[in-house]
Amino acid sequence: MKTILCLQPNQFAFEERAYPSSIAGNSIIAIKRIGICGTDLHAYKGNQPFFSYPRVLGHELAAEFVEGHAPGFSKGDLLTVLPYKSCGTCFACMRGKTNCCASLSVLGVHEDGGMSEYLSIPNQLLISSGGLTLDQLALVEPLAIGAHAVSRAMIQEGDSVVVIGAGPIGFGLLHFLKLLDIKLMVVETNEFRLNFCKKEFPTVECIDASKNDVIDCLKDLTKGNMPSIVFDATGNLTAINESFQYLSHAGTYVLVGLQQGALSVLHPEFHKREATLMSSRNATHSDFHFVIQAIQEKKVQAENMITHRMHFNDVINEFPRLYTTGNALMKAMISL
Ligand SMILES: [Zn+2]
Ligand SMILES: [Zn+2]
Repeated sequence: MKTILCLQPNQFAFEERAYPSSIAGNSIIAIKRIGICGTDLHAYKGNQPFFSYPRVLGHELAAEFVEGHAPGFSKGDLLTVLPYKSCGTCFACMRGKTNCCASLSVLGVHEDGGMSEYLSIPNQLLISSGGLTLDQLALVEPLAIGAHAVSRAMIQEGDSVVVIGAGPIGFGLLHFLKLLDIKLMVVETNEFRLNFCKKEFPTVECIDASKNDVIDCLKDLTKGNMPSIVFDATGNLTAINESFQYLSHAGTYVLVGLQQGALSVLHPEFHKREATLMSSRNATHSDFHFVIQAIQEKKVQAENMITHRMHFNDVINEFPRLYTTGNALMKAMISL
């Protein structure tokens, strides 16, 4: 079977690998879609920290069941994959927070992932399609990141919420925030993303940070209170440090995007707010099911996020072109 290996930064190669042997507790799936996200783009460029090569990328997967003894699955069934292998015994796992397991291994990041014709997957990581299409199934993982972060924030009636950054992570948040009866705002500097956001989420207040004073805008939109929930979806240190001051008193700041530096919080400013700072990592089984149900009920229609497509056979030539599309890239999708 054909596998695409990221040999070292900026180099993919096809490799012929043996069809997976059957392992008790695992099933074999045929990969049909692979969504590309920031992690893959950074890994290929060589700027994903703690990343080792060679590695098979791909963790946003849609697949067809081929063989194995997974309860509820038979040959030809469509599915998606929970790409986070958790230990089941650490404190986080015992608390049901398998998404932040102390020894978490993510497919396509810490171990080989889905850029392959077939994959052997532990049965408990297979998630039934619920009638979703292959494109929709490959979007479940990135959407679940958003759904998980929204549930972390414990949003209540009367909250006003701002999302910093209208890229793929920001869109994942907005798809679930728009289902809530709250004041919803977005801060973005890029024109393409602002326009895309206005089109997809017409009821959201979009603030162009390149042309406006963001604090003034947020004050106006929240009657002077400032947002009670701030989500960072930029993973940009400057944007994060800047946006701590957007938070209202008694507010909550949620880090969804990830960057490598140390945050700088002015303690008196943070303290007087009695603010909460939290991070949100990955997603759980129940987030995946929540997302699938939201798509089934047509509350979330995210296929417009797919701005680029390529075939598995063309990845070596087409993948590098994703870096020249700049901010016009939301989600690239590989088909097999
Ligand atoms: Zn991803
Ligand atoms: Zn664990």
